[in-house]
Amino acid sequence: MEYEVVIGIEVHAELSTKTKIYCGCSTEFGGTPNTHCCPVCTGMPGALPVLNEKVVEYAVRAGLAMECDIEHQSKQDRKNYFYPDTPRAYQISQFDLPICKNGNVNIKLEDYDKNIGITRIHIEDDAGKLVHDNYTGGTLVDLNRAGVPLIEIVSEPDIRSSQEAIAYVEKLKGILEYIGVSDCKMQEGSLRADVNLSLRPLGQEKFGTRTETKNLNSFRAIGRAIDFEIERQKAVLESGGVVYQETRRWDDEKGEGYAMRSKEEAQDYRYFPEPDLMPIILSDEYIENIRKTLPELPESRKQKYINELNLPEYDAGIITSSKALSDFFEEAGKECNNYKAVSNWIMSDIIRAAREYEFEYSSMPYTAKQFAHLIMLVDKGTISGSIAKTVFEEMIKTGNEPEKIVEEKGLMQVSDENAIKEVVDRIIAANPQSIVDYKAGKDRALGFLVGQCMKEMKGKGNPQILNKLILEELNK
Ligand code: ADP
Ligand code: MG
Ligand code: ZN
Repeated sequence: MEYEVVIGIEVHAELSTKTKIYCGCSTEFGGTPNTHCCPVCTGMPGALPVLNEKVVEYAVRAGLAMECDIEHQSKQDRKNYFYPDTPRAYQISQFDLPICKNGNVNIKLEDYDKNIGITRIHIEDDAGKLVHDNYTGGTLVDLNRAGVPLIEIVSEPDIRSSQEAIAYVEKLKGILEYIGVSDCKMQEGSLRADVNLSLRPLGQEKFGTRTETKNLNSFRAIGRAIDFEIERQKAVLESGGVVYQETRRWDDEKGEGYAMRSKEEAQDYRYFPEPDLMPIILSDEYIENIRKTLPELPESRKQKYINELNLPEYDAGIITSSKALSDFFEEAGKECNNYKAVSNWIMSDIIRAAREYEFEYSSMPYTAKQFAHLIMLVDKGTISGSIAKTVFEEMIKTGNEPEKIVEEKGLMQVSDENAIKEVVDRIIAANPQSIVDYKAGKDRALGFLVGQCMKEMKGKGNPQILNKLILEELNK
């Protein structure tokens, strides 16, 4: 039997407001445990929440960027459950009237595009963190994260594979970073995904029973957890069993998912309207004012790169997948007036270096201006393309200006014909077989000789002049 995979994803993103959602405490990540806290976010009896207006603004920004309808009237609700990281014994979330509804995001895969529906986006507060303490053998609670604002973005069950799921979460991450509402640092838990997944026989309309794998916080984990769950459900169905609706955990180290609780054990959250907070009423004017401040989104930048700067679609897609990288590209391209060169460098050395030296695109070890100057040195003929790679590595290691590195290391390109001619003569004299090969029509011999001369000149020979002189010599 062939099965179709059906996936809907709930993404939680921590908003990058300065203060928490219902009090003035800092949202900064980390910190000494329980120092970013007050009676409100530690759930002291009688403490009253006051909604941080920025949270509403950010949720509306996200909703507009994801083509949602923004509700003029919404409210907040108590979601009741007991867990030691939530001292109030309820989370304040939104139940039946979320701020945003019915959105859309477009994802791109290798050979097709696809729309994923957004069911809703609502605001809620994050919980604290339980930390197991090996010293006392007990478990401690850190409430610094309690009350950090979140938006939850719920997708329609439109996703059909792990590839689509990853493309979707990458797309959301890109949008949230562009509009500046979340730093989306997955390793710090600022962006996490719950994956709902079911299988149905191909051609059947009715959905199968789904499971929900919670709190996936890397793209790798999302992909692997999905592929694991597809295989698991397939095996259950093929052996004549039934899939139970349950909440699951993913252990990324072991590469296994396991059941946490079944539907029968699922809590009844007893949602009811939060009596300490007013309904959220938004005017058209308020919404339109936020719409006006939305920056250019990745898709539109991408089209601009393809149509106006003639970048290949693939390259434009990679560059715009990160706002920091795309900002860098625009700033450096403008400075050196050679967008194509910047794009080529990004696609090769910059992406590689970011992996190798483990830096984020938002904090590269050189500025866009400095990098542009490196390209200008090549364009002016001061250094060759291959020397530029050496200079680039030096820029990463020392943080120095490219001009200074070239100067100090004596990396200037040699364009003096006499100096080059001397090397060419020497190399040709030492490789008589190459001349025979070249005359016999083997073009590779030319490349070989150029390479030998370049090596002799430590990469500093002007390649055009070198080529010209070798050809003159060979064609004599
Ligand atoms: P809950 O509030 O219990 O998490 P929702 O109805 O809000 O349930 O659905 C949560 C997510 O599950 C949504 O992203 C939705 O698209 C997805 N979903 C619902 N039914 C299925 C199904 N049968 N298979 C896969 N995903 C599903
Ligand atoms: Mg859910
Ligand atoms: Zn507080």
